[in-house]
Amino acid sequence: MKAAKFDYEAPASLDEALSRLAENGGKPVSGGQSMGPMLNMRLATPDLLVDLRRLDELNGYSQGDGKLVVGAAVTHAQVEDGALPDVTKGMMASVASDIAYRPVRTRGTIGGSLCHADPAADWPSALTALDATLVVAGTGGTRRIGIDDFLLGAFAIALNEGEVLIAVEIPVLSDAARWGYFKFCRKTGEFAETICGVVFDPANDIRRVVLGALGGAPKRLGELEDRLGDGIPGVNGIAAAIDALDIAFEPAQLVMHNTAVRRALRQAFGS
Ligand SMILES: Cc1cc2nc3c(=O)[nH]c(=O)nc-3n(C[C@H](O)[C@H](O)[C@H](O)COP(=O)(O)OP(=O)(O)OC[C@H]3O[C@@H](n4cnc5c(N)ncnc54)[C@H](O)[C@@H]3O)c2cc1C
Repeated sequence: MKAAKFDYEAPASLDEALSRLAENGGKPVSGGQSMGPMLNMRLATPDLLVDLRRLDELNGYSQGDGKLVVGAAVTHAQVEDGALPDVTKGMMASVASDIAYRPVRTRGTIGGSLCHADPAADWPSALTALDATLVVAGTGGTRRIGIDDFLLGAFAIALNEGEVLIAVEIPVLSDAARWGYFKFCRKTGEFAETICGVVFDPANDIRRVVLGALGGAPKRLGELEDRLGDGIPGVNGIAAAIDALDIAFEPAQLVMHNTAVRRALRQAFGS
């Protein structure tokens, strides 16, 4: 199937993009790696696509006050290739390098991935583990929102009509920080069956164990977060923490999630 007809604009300034989105009820597009298929399957039928890739505010990065501010239009490949300072001790580059295939990574963006909010995508889980804060702009100004409050569910985010995500703030991890990230998918480029991200950095007040690919927003495993740094829990301890989510999993899914958590914890804290 082909996409329905739509207009396309690529404004040169954020103000222009926001006013086009406000006036015309169009949809923003970044890398087009999720929007393209949605258009072709006619799951999205916008009258206007507003391309955000040329906007200065969404490209590049800045660093200060203990955080790295990454433009929403930064691509997975730029993160993989080390175009950003490594403030996460290799975690973000490692996550980026395992997203889909290189051609998808050269176009797909961090902001597009967060706004698409596919439950099985990588950045929603990885950046929840990193306790990221998102910067959102609309015609009324900008606001900051924690990632836990931004990701509402499957393909559901806390953006108001006409707003765009402009940047992601990532804490600069301390030298003592530890992280682990494990995902399982049946073959490269397919979406994950399970994802677990772990970040432990008391200096930044970050203790997070995040389970993803759950069919909704990623979930934090509070029981394990409380015990982070006290040794790796056994299979039963992990099972109890997953059980506390109160989600009815198929037995095979449960085994995959338990394994993902164990492997991510092992990566973070050694065997
Ligand atoms: C074959 C294939 C395999 C893939 N495998 C993986 C994988 O293993 N892991 C993974 O994480 N992802 C995977 N993806 C998805 C990929 O990472 C996409 O890049 C990502 O989901 C969307 O990013 P984008 O920049 O292309 O967004 P787009 O497709 O441009 O937009 C996606 C959605 O977000 C909205 N949007 C985009 N940017 C903004 C913004 N700044 N503000 C507000 N709204 C915005 C759009 O309106 C649209 O609704 C795969 C994609 C393909 C095609």
